Formats: sequence, structure tokens, C-alpha cells
Amino acid sequence: MRKTKSFQSVRRQYFYPELKRCPSCHQRLSLLRGLYLKKTIQTLDGVLWLGGYASHCVNPKCQDRQRRYLSSQLAALSLPGVTYGLDVIVRVGWRRQHDHRTMNEIGQELRSLGVQVTDREVERLWDYYRLLLRGLNQADLVKLREAEQAYGGLIWSADGLQPESGEPQLWVVREVLTRLVVRAEWLSQMDAPTLKAFLQPVKALGFKTLATVSDQQQALVKALKATWRKPHQACQSHFLRDAATPLVEQDRAGMVEIKAKIRGIRAIERQIEAAEPQDRSAAIVGTYVLALRQGLRFRSRAPLQLGGVRLYALLEELTNSIQRCLKKETMSVSFNC
Ligand SMILES: [Zn+2]
Repeated sequence: MRKTKSFQSVRRQYFYPELKRCPSCHQRLSLLRGLYLKKTIQTLDGVLWLGGYASHCVNPKCQDRQRRYLSSQLAALSLPGVTYGLDVIVRVGWRRQHDHRTMNEIGQELRSLGVQVTDREVERLWDYYRLLLRGLNQADLVKLREAEQAYGGLIWSADGLQPESGEPQLWVVREVLTRLVVRAEWLSQMDAPTLKAFLQPVKALGFKTLATVSDQQQALVKALKATWRKPHQACQSHFLRDAATPLVEQDRAGMVEIKAKIRGIRAIERQIEAAEPQDRSAAIVGTYVLALRQGLRFRSRAPLQLGGVRLYALLEELTNSIQRCLKKETMSVSFNC
């Protein structure tokens, strides 16, 4: 998966470590200057450029001064060394295991969703999926034991990923300090008792626990607190996403309204296609239609991408430009307007 790919549109996202205090000496952690991790991944939701800040302990007497702490949410988006989002891996796993699709069929589906992937890479993603569900091996347990001794305990984070709406979710538990995937399983229900039962085998490993981290889903927070009875921390970007959800929903509704008003583009496009090559006004109108087509592709995504607002601004710009253009037309029509 090292082949260089080029992407038209890349969304940038920044992540800060959720941990605020050093697990070893409990002093406040301090952010390191500059980005500690940069990575571009393809997700089902577009291409993401991820920037991760790290924190460290500045207590000169602390034995863990060398340790760097990253966002557990950042770790949840992809596996180390893999340039596809975990959502893509989960989709591959679901299609193969549940729908019995061939690698080629899965590849075609992903490509139709805009993911640049070869059938060979789909096979690698299937391997990663199986690795994810394999569970802990002896070396992982040793690593966890060492971290437990070094920090006096471990930190668990949990997250669910859905391959398609209405389908079960793949739930993953990670240990934050070692970034190990500890447990993954498909769950059809997302209530607190189900999640608690899912967390139980992790608890049964018997490691000492310092804290838990997750988004603000009530059932999940309840299950984490009931399982470990330890402090719980909300992921910042999850928190922001949850806070922005009503805004994004409004934006989506606004976008639907605007789109309902823009009708008949296809008819205009046909006229442009049928026009003579030397028809200058057809060329000008064609430029506007193209801009409009691009605007209709804008999407709203939590927390900060508001497609409706962007589309509205674009329409305003186009209207102003057309008006300027019409005024000028009494004199001459130019391609610059
Ligand atoms: Zn420390």
C-alpha cells in the first residue's frame, strides 16, 4: 500500500491527546510543539489528512519523561501503517464475511465510492480485518503487562463502526497507552447491557485500570463506568462533533431546500452540448453550469463542514457575476466575466 496516490480534495483534521495528566506522576502533561504524527488516509467519507499533537510529562523527576501521548481518537481512525480508514477495513470485512462478495466485487464497490484501491489492496485490507478480530496474542499480553507496571494501570477506549446504516456495528476496544486493539466484535445492539457484556472479557484480563475514554454516547459511557468504576474522559473531537450535530442537520435541511429550487440544469447542459463550437454565450453559460454542478456536490459533515452554507455563498457569487455579466453584455460579451 505504498503506491503514491493523488487526491483531489483532502480534509484536514487535527487531534489533541485526551489525557491531561501523566499516568505515572499525575502532573499536568504539556503539549509538544509541532505535529507529532501526520498521515493521509482514504475513508468512505473522503480523504483525510490527519495531524496529531502529542503531549509529554515535564516533571524532571518523572520516570516516564520520554513517553509521548497521542489522541486515542486519532488511533481509532486507522491501523498503524495502513493508509485506509478503519471504516474501509470494516466495510471489506462485512462484505466478505457477511455478504460473501469476491475481492473484485468489493473493490468495485469501493472504487464506485471514490476510494482508490486495487483488488490486491482489498485483499490486504481483508487480512487486516482478520487481524483485527483475531484477539490478543502472547506478545500483546506481555506489552500490556509492561505498560501496566510502568504506569500503574491501563486506559481503555471503545468505539463502534457501522459498515452500512441499519447493519450491526463492529466494536473495538483499544488500550490507549500501548495503542493495542484488545477486542473487536460485531454487535447488533448498542444498549448499555450489551456493551457491558462486550467489555467484560477485557475486564476479565485482570489489568489494573486508570481511566476510560470514549465519545459521549450515553449507553457507552454508562457501560464503561459500570465496568471499571474509573474516571471517564470524553474525546475532544467526538465532543465537538456531537455539539455540532444540530447545526449540521440544519445545514443539510437548508441544502435540500436550495437544491429543490435549482431545477432544469440538465436541460441547459443539453442546449450547451448542442450549441455550435463558436457560440460564445454557450461557453459562458457552460462555465456557470459547471460551477453550479460542483456546488451541488458540496456535503455537510460534522463538525465543521457546512455544505449548505457553502452552496448558498456560491449561488450568491454566481448571481452577482451573472448580473455583472448581463450589464456588460450591452457593450460586449467577454469570457472573463
Ligand atoms: Zn510524569
